[in-house]
Amino acid sequence: MSRRSGARLLHGGPIATEIRATVAAEIIELKERLGFAPALAIVLVGKDAPSAVYLQQILRSCRNAGIAGRLAEVDCDICPDHVRRDIEDLNRDPTVAGIIIQQPLPPEVPLRTVIDAIDPAKDIDGIHPVNAGLLSLGYDGFLPATAHAAVELLKRSGVEIAGKRAVVVGRSNIVGKPAALLLLREHATVTVCHSRTPDLRRELRRADIVVVAIGKPAFVTGDMLKRDAVVIDVGINVVGDALVGDVDFESARQVVRAITPVPGGVGPVTNAILLTHLVRAARALRPLPEPVAQGDPQ
Ligand code: NAP
Repeated sequence: MSRRSGARLLHGGPIATEIRATVAAEIIELKERLGFAPALAIVLVGKDAPSAVYLQQILRSCRNAGIAGRLAEVDCDICPDHVRRDIEDLNRDPTVAGIIIQQPLPPEVPLRTVIDAIDPAKDIDGIHPVNAGLLSLGYDGFLPATAHAAVELLKRSGVEIAGKRAVVVGRSNIVGKPAALLLLREHATVTVCHSRTPDLRRELRRADIVVVAIGKPAFVTGDMLKRDAVVIDVGINVVGDALVGDVDFESARQVVRAITPVPGGVGPVTNAILLTHLVRAARALRPLPEPVAQGDPQ
């Protein structure tokens, strides 16, 4: 195999900055029309330290864009009914534009119960069956932000997708499956691999575009990849004090044409894309009614 001196790095930061600038301008307009800052509600069920750190990042992005980020914590009495009622309250709240659910949920709360409770019009991370159905039919709905970010990163980096052979490793509902559908929408020929794929290496060696989302640090190595492939590493794994992707960055970058770093690749774009989904949902909000004038005191 001939070796390259180094791949082009597909940094997510500049793309995220570009997206956030558009979001900030749209939020100013929305605030003027609505008279309030549209809110993103993050439902956090139970206490989970690593996800709490990730949530702080989203809340900071919200603040910077002029969005009212709000943590809706359900941690005192974890039961499915309680969580569902809280989500229904957020559905009715006229200032909440979007709702996301921090996953994984505690085992006593079935994901399906929670997903079904979200109003599809506020489901800005595209997890409700209505939005998943719209995606599979190729209609316009809310897309899962990470999958959307992976494909947006390819497009904004000028990577041609149409007619290319794409392999997605991982078939989760929030990343692998929707990424495969989006690549199909962009006219790639798509193969989805998972833990029962008998010969992953063979599939990968044929791929022009590789999207990896499996949650296994440095699992995909350079020798598994085709020369000149473009690799989107969605994985975020904590190893010691470091964050690493699902792709072994050092070996892969010697072989491929382009690769996303971890951190600094898909992650920042995901956060920015989520804000664009929020803006879209916020366009459906209405100004709050004027408070009813009080009569003269008796
Ligand atoms: P997940 O729900 O655990 O799904 C993992 C998928 O990987 C499953 O489909 C599984 O196959 C497949 N898999 C596991 N081991 C495999 C192997 N040895 N060979 C081939 N496929 C294998 O994970 P997820 O939620 O999709 O997340 C995946 C990664 O993306 C994680 O590292 C997560 O932290 C990261 N992530 C990043 C962002 C971001 O913004 N960058 C957002 C969300 C998630 P089976 O279906 O057969 O079990």
